[in-house]
Amino acid sequence: MIDIKEKYMCDGCHACYSVCPKDAINMEIDDEGFWYPKVDNTKCVDCNKCEKVCPILNKTEVKSLKKAYACYNLDEDIRVKSSSGGIFTILASEIIKDDGVVFGAKFDKDFNVVHDYVEDIDGLSKFRGSKYVQSNIGDSFRQAKKFLDGGRKVLFSGTPCQIGGLKSYLNKDYDNLVTVDLICHGVPSPMIWKRYINEIGDGKKLSAMTFRDKSKGWNSGVLKYRFEDGSEINEEYGESLYIKGFIKNCFLRSSCYNCNFKTLDRGSDFTLGDFWGIEEIIPEIDKKSGVSLIMIHTKKAQDLFNGLNKNMYYEEVDINKSIVFNTCAIESVKNEKREEFFIILKDNTLGESINKIAGRKVVHRVNFMRHIKRTIKSILKYKD
Ligand SMILES: Cc1cc2nc3c(=O)[nH]c(=O)nc-3n(C[C@H](O)[C@H](O)[C@H](O)COP(=O)(O)OP(=O)(O)OC[C@H]3O[C@@H](n4cnc5c(N)ncnc54)[C@H](O)[C@@H]3O)c2cc1C
Repeated sequence: MIDIKEKYMCDGCHACYSVCPKDAINMEIDDEGFWYPKVDNTKCVDCNKCEKVCPILNKTEVKSLKKAYACYNLDEDIRVKSSSGGIFTILASEIIKDDGVVFGAKFDKDFNVVHDYVEDIDGLSKFRGSKYVQSNIGDSFRQAKKFLDGGRKVLFSGTPCQIGGLKSYLNKDYDNLVTVDLICHGVPSPMIWKRYINEIGDGKKLSAMTFRDKSKGWNSGVLKYRFEDGSEINEEYGESLYIKGFIKNCFLRSSCYNCNFKTLDRGSDFTLGDFWGIEEIIPEIDKKSGVSLIMIHTKKAQDLFNGLNKNMYYEEVDINKSIVFNTCAIESVKNEKREEFFIILKDNTLGESINKIAGRKVVHRVNFMRHIKRTIKSILKYKD
């Protein structure tokens, strides 16, 4: 049975949980907020399917076509609402038009990030936009298999390790499956995310959130939080404490520092990312609202791409040049601050911990607002 001795040897993909014929595996949250499989010995029949399905214990070699394009959606509204160039929506719409099903990551009502599926074009808006948190796969692998076995087309999108887990769980090629993974920096802890929205909202309930509002452009994104009482907080990408902690790798999953899936030879059909540095390759490109890098790994993906209704700008590029400014495609991030961060977090607020570990002190907007409110209150109190 699966027994995780070193945390970095589990990416939380849920393949073992999904394959267990006796439902003997629960995904339990550790004290850093990440899911790990826990076997119920009273239900386990030692079939070992959980070990055999693990994409980390059982590595598979694949060869990619290694083709890449710079592209963006010509529908400006969708492009602006997407994190990069809005290409995910074009691919997903194509599957839906063919009576297919699309799986992706969305916020649930409490702003946890979870995998789900949709069967209509409007539903795709839930998946649009990156959520920089590890998403909970739940029963999505099992649901996807049911659709596939029933002959429906399925597009499954997720991080590279989630796609690795899905392919391993399915254990055979399906003509009706299209997989889309991301260039992935690494996934932050869901617990840290929940603490952050709690601290920043000072306990108020979120009603909407976007990690990359592009009103000021693709390069200068803003994190937008709207609360049920109608108030809003906007954080500049570079000033957000959450983003600082994310980019400086303070609270990523242990497996992200030693990722098995960062390669150009991927098991997915497509890989999507931001085309950072596109101006060096196509100087005249319109990059204001975002440009996607799309990698094509399989013939199935190339055929789908060739047949797309071309509501997009696209131009082929050299795949090796495409990742010069995006080494996350092929290299794991460095683990320099994680241990220290989780030690400091035991005795400090999240904001204080990130400030201590991830750089110069930045005034946390909510504290700044609280400070202003307190000052106004004191002025009013002593006015008379
Ligand atoms: C945790 C994370 C780290 C990333 N790191 C990088 C990076 O270092 N470099 C880079 O170039 N790009 C990175 N990306 C990818 C990038 O942000 C865009 O998601 C991607 O380019 C697709 O953009 P789009 O405009 O085509 O579509 P969008 O509509 O913006 O993309 C939505 C797609 O992302 C999926 N998605 C959103 N959040 C999650 C999540 N938490 N887990 C799994 N899938 C999710 C949705 O299911 C959907 O398929 C990252 C994305 C995530 C979620």
